[in-house]
Amino acid sequence: MAEPDRGDTPVALVTGASRGLGRAIAVELAGRGQHVIVNYKTNRREAEETLSQIKERGGAATLFQADVSRPDQVQAMFQAVFKAHRRLDILVNNAGITRDEYFLTMRQQSWDEVIASDLGAVLYCCKMAVGLMAGARRGVIVNIGSSSALSARPGQVNYGTAKSALLGFSRTLARELAGKGVRVLVVAPGFTATPMTEALPREVIRETLARIPLGRWSLPREIARAVAFFASDAARCYSGQTIVIDGGRTALEQEYGLQVQGE
Ligand code: NAP
Repeated sequence: MAEPDRGDTPVALVTGASRGLGRAIAVELAGRGQHVIVNYKTNRREAEETLSQIKERGGAATLFQADVSRPDQVQAMFQAVFKAHRRLDILVNNAGITRDEYFLTMRQQSWDEVIASDLGAVLYCCKMAVGLMAGARRGVIVNIGSSSALSARPGQVNYGTAKSALLGFSRTLARELAGKGVRVLVVAPGFTATPMTEALPREVIRETLARIPLGRWSLPREIARAVAFFASDAARCYSGQTIVIDGGRTALEQEYGLQVQGE
């Protein structure tokens, strides 16, 4: 963790920022003047790449290894951040995993891991962040959801459950914190080109594209720009909303008749 600073640089913590969306969000926020805490779980080398991309652009960041599905590790991370910076302006709960399995054969472990990483982690991080933010009467929490919370994807009962619960969690927390100067939002991407999705077979990629009215996946930096905007003061009238960025898929699916048969 960095030397204690004078407390005048805004601080953002991005979970799961060693690659994919988390990296793009960390780079974008650092480019807008935030000192970014780049959290990662296992991949130190990739996290260092995020750090170098931030530094190449003149930004400031610190790496912090913690498994955010573990409350003890989350607590240690936030305590270190608070000690070093004495503030937290933006929390982006981005870390997430998939363990796609059809429900009939889904292993208990796949359910438990997804619920812990995609939902439990958000609870633990918010629990730590909210006290400091409410005390300062300032802060924004952006939870990274998924369009899978809005349109069913077979094989994702675990992931769809976690991401759907995230919507209710965020809305309710936003209501509780509205009088305390803290905003809570969900940014829910559809298919985005990251390591999570690049392993998908070609036919699945073709099939997903056929169902997206705008005919393209999102790029991580497009999601990152949206996150940065909704975390900024320019968006200070937004709280409790879910912003879906999926090429129009969930909003327009029925009108376009793009529902795939036999799913
Ligand atoms: P990704 O490429 O697989 O990256 C996941 C990141 O999360 C990695 O940095 C990983 O760290 C970290 N992570 C996973 N579990 C963690 C834990 N317990 N503690 C700390 N870090 C953890 O995934 P992505 O595509 O960028 O997805 C990011 C978020 O966007 C997820 O919440 C995902 O559900 C959501 N999303 C993605 C898409 C998409 O199409 N890509 C669509 C909708 C929603 P290590 O590398 O160190 O393990």
